[in-house]
Amino acid sequence: MIKVKNLKGTAGRVPNGYDSWLEYWEAKAGQRATKCMRVGCSVTGRANLVGAHVKKVDIYDNKWYIVPLCQADNMRTDEFFVYEPLVPVNA
Ligand SMILES: [Zn+2]
Repeated sequence: MIKVKNLKGTAGRVPNGYDSWLEYWEAKAGQRATKCMRVGCSVTGRANLVGAHVKKVDIYDNKWYIVPLCQADNMRTDEFFVYEPLVPVNA
């Protein structure tokens, strides 16, 4: 797991060929999004998830990453742990 925080106001344009950031994550990660990836969160169901933009907290690589989160965790302003994989926005 890895510690991250949400990036605000960074929804941006979904890359060509994808309907959503969630679909983008699925394609690059090679798996379906079925649960919120925040450690300790029990929200499941693809319809309850978004492809959230996050930044790694302890690694200063300046990259933005996508990870499936529930709506509530997508609104968090603190730092929290998620399970990998994270998919870089410009993968
Ligand atoms: Zn969650």
